[in-house]
Formats: sequence, structure tokens, C-alpha cells
Amino acid sequence: MNDDTARSVVETDVPLSRSTLDSDTEREAARLLSRCRPDAVPYERRIFVNRNLRLSGIDLVGFDMDYTLAMYHVSVENLAVALTIDRLIRTRGYPEVLRNAPYDPDFAVLGLSVDKKHGNLLKMDNHRHVSRAYHGFEPVLKAERRTLYNRERLRMSSDRFALIDTMFAVPEAWLFARMVDLHEVALGMTLGPNDYERFFNDIRECIDQVHADDSLKSVIRKDVGQYIERDPELGRTLRRIRASGKRTLLLTNSHWDYTDPVMRYLLEGPGSSPSSWRDAFDIVIVAAGKPAFFTEDRPFRELRLPEGQPEQHEVTALERGRVYQGGNVRDFDRLMGTSGDRVLYVGDNMYGDILRSKKATTWRTAMAIPGLERMLLVHERVRPEIVRRDAVEAERTRLDEELRVLELQLEALELLKEEPPTGRGAEVDGRVLRRAQQLARRDCRRIERSLKRCVREARAIDMTIENAFNPHWGQTFTAFAEHSLFGGQLEDYACLYLAKVSNFLAYSPNQYFRTPRDVLPHDHA
Ligand code: IMP
Ligand code: MG
Repeated sequence: MNDDTARSVVETDVPLSRSTLDSDTEREAARLLSRCRPDAVPYERRIFVNRNLRLSGIDLVGFDMDYTLAMYHVSVENLAVALTIDRLIRTRGYPEVLRNAPYDPDFAVLGLSVDKKHGNLLKMDNHRHVSRAYHGFEPVLKAERRTLYNRERLRMSSDRFALIDTMFAVPEAWLFARMVDLHEVALGMTLGPNDYERFFNDIRECIDQVHADDSLKSVIRKDVGQYIERDPELGRTLRRIRASGKRTLLLTNSHWDYTDPVMRYLLEGPGSSPSSWRDAFDIVIVAAGKPAFFTEDRPFRELRLPEGQPEQHEVTALERGRVYQGGNVRDFDRLMGTSGDRVLYVGDNMYGDILRSKKATTWRTAMAIPGLERMLLVHERVRPEIVRRDAVEAERTRLDEELRVLELQLEALELLKEEPPTGRGAEVDGRVLRRAQQLARRDCRRIERSLKRCVREARAIDMTIENAFNPHWGQTFTAFAEHSLFGGQLEDYACLYLAKVSNFLAYSPNQYFRTPRDVLPHDHA
């Protein structure tokens, strides 16, 4: 079914009085209607909601490019690692053997923090408690985690920590572990905070140059398809958004000379519509410099095409068909005449796209999460374990309650012993009292044994569930029973989140995305 067929079904002008329709037409219409009925949205293609959002109240939808419209294959991580290692060896004097270990894309995940002081990778929960840690490729055991991290409140915004908040940073985390492992394990060196900090800063600077000086992009440009996935539904998604009366924006940090070939690959390849990719967007802004786009007042510059040179004249209007560079959100809202709360921006970078835009503007946000589809499929697979774990936890809650009752009973018996009640019929036989205490203590011991079993079993099931997602780090957005630091940010700053942009196709252009009602623990009673 194409969009037009669907529209003609619901937008007919013919008055639907029964007398004007014969019964054959009625039957056919009902059949057509049922043919147009969409399937339920598969779990892995759903859009999830943290904050209510009515699409009918959105006038403009903006998209980030890299890891939002353009989802990369793991080959780009391999490439970034290889180029960065090359630079670390050539320009920073690191040993040739650094090349010898193959990159492991499953070792590090989104949301980790690098601790430059102790040379560790950390997974934090939303209360800044370290739930897992690695030193090089070795897990840091609980006792050491406690010694290192439980004695002070960690200030995650300090220079000591770096957050892996975009897929582009995941290779950095692996490289950091590799450097620590190489020097300490293979080369037998004793390292301290200065070495760890130097490793991280060298990696950061080298990977930054690899992105900025075209060495990464010149390779990708030669064979975009080897590095970027083409979503065949992307073009239709963008056209449908425009057809519903909303304007579309491309707002990317990539420069014109990279944006153009990538977008051409995504929207102009075989099987796509013959028009230029730029027709899919009302406004195109490259080299936006997010997060500064949201926080500073840099000017827009129009680019002269096709070469992409910035013009010197002041930009006084943002027009369809032209390409701009730089800029800032205040001028954008002013020139476009948009009210911030009627703009929805879809991006993947937790800090640059989501958190900063949420804090500095009233734009609504949707986070595209590379790898979410896989996480949701794993979630489906471990559902029986989740059901079992929930049953064990319900049993634990029941046993806790029984234990509470028994302990209060024991306390009451003890009071009776110390202050025997007075008055007719109130006295308690001492032997009966002692026996009652014995019975209560016996039951307490029984329940405590059952509780221990429950805790062990829940913990074991939890480990099975977590390891199914990632054997080193578990689930990205949770840390056992808590939100992870990253999961907490997702909840606080992203109104919606989704695996890919074309998931919008499964929803009406007027969809009211509603969040489950927020509850506090006392609401569950
Ligand atoms: P966006 O996600 O479309 O806004 O664009 C991300 C851009 O940032 C891409 O062009 C990346 O190559 C670039 N990028 C990612 N990490 C770094 C970095 O560490 N330094 C410089 N550029 C980066
Ligand atoms: Mg991006």
C-alpha cells in the first residue's frame, strides 16, 4: 500500500450515508480497509517515550547525520582504530606492537566512563556508584572497586573522567584498555595516574585529528557502502514527514565535502527517488559545531555550491535549496519563525545532540541509538529469565515481609518478658512465652535461609540476563536494578528514543507519543 492509497481511504469526500452505498461497495470498502490495517509495531521497531509528545504539535523535524540518518558498520570503528594507532606510533612514539591486537568491537559499549586517574573503564549507575570496572582487559573486583570508588562522591564533570557518549568514542575506550594492557601486562611496566592521563589524552588528540584532517573521511568517501548502511525506507520516511506539513532540517557537524557524498549514498542510490537528496530537506546546515550551535552565538554562512566555499555576506534568511554552515539555535528559531517547543530534533550524541539541546533550548529531542535494535532482540530472548527473576524477587519481597512480622513479634514477646502485663487475665505463663519465642526464632532462621537462596538465585539470573547483552558490561541503560548513568541521562533528556529514523513510518504523522504515568514507590502500594 502506498501513502496515497491510505489517504484516499480516510479522506474521501463522499458522504458515507448507507443509502448512497450499495452493499457490494460496503463490503469492498470494508475489505479494503482491513487490507490497509497495519501490523502491530514489532518491539525492535518501536519508538519509546520518556516525555509525552504530540507529533501534530511539531512544525519542524531536524536530523543529525552521522549515526542518526547514516548508521555505520563496525568497519568504521576498525578503520578509526587502525588510523589512530598508526598516528600514535608515528607521532607519539608508542611501540609498533600496539598494532598487534585486533580491535574487539564488543569490548566497550556506549555510556562507559574513562577514569584517567586509575586507568580504568567504569560503568556507573545513576547514583554515581561504580557497578562494573575494567583495568586493561581485566575486570576490577568488587573489593578493589569499593576501595577506589566508594570513599568519595565522584564528580563526573571533572577532567578526570571522559564519557563515551557517542559511537564515535567507543573505539577510544577499547584503545585506552589496550594501551594499559600492553604497557602493564605485555611490557611489564608500572604505571601511575600521569601515564594513564597521557595515554588517554594522546588517544583523544590522535583520534580527533583522524576525524578532522580527512584521513578517516577520505577512505570512507571512496567506498561509502563499505562503511555506512543504507536504509531503504529512509527516503520515504523523510518524504512522509514533509507530506504531513512539517518542515525538515539536516543539522550535522560533518562538513559539506563529507555530508554531500554520504547523503547522496543514503538517498540517491539505486531504488531511491531520482531527485537530489537535498529535496528531502527544507534546510541544510553542515559544520554546525554542536554543542556550540546550542550554546554560542556563531553566525550562519551560506556555502557556494558545488565547491562548498563559505560566502562572506550576512545570512538574513534560511532558504530551501541552499546550504548553510555554522550558526546557532537562537538565530535559527528567529529566521525560521519557529517556536522551540514545536521543533523535534533527532540525534545520537548524548551530550552534543540531546543533553545540550535540552538544557539550552526548548527543542524536543529524540535519541537515535545505534545498536538498540539488537538490544531489544536480546531483551526478547531473555524474557523467560526476566519473568523467572521477577518471580524470585516477588518471593523475596514476601519473605522480607514475613521476616518483618516475626521480628516485630519477637520484640513484642521480649517486652512482655520485661514488663509483664498486669490486670485480670492479662498474665502470660512464662513457659508459653518462652515456647512462643522459640517458635518465632525457628521461623526466622528458616526464612533467613530461604532469603539467602532467593538472593543468590536472583543474582545468578540477573548475571545471565546481563551477560546476554554484553559479557563485560551488561545492559547499556541499566546497572542491575538501577538505571545506568547513561540510562538516567536518556530518561532525563530524550523525549523519545528509537533504533532508527525509519521507525517513524510505523506511526501516524499525528501520533501522540504518550509515556506511561510517572510513579514514585509509594504509588505502587
Ligand atoms: P554528526 O553526528 O552528524 O553531527 O557529525 C559527527 C561528525 O563529527 C562527523 O563528521 C565525525 O567525523 C565528527 N567527529 C566525531 N568524533 C570526532 C572527534 O573526536 N573529533 C573531530 N570530529 C569528530
Ligand atoms: Mg551524530
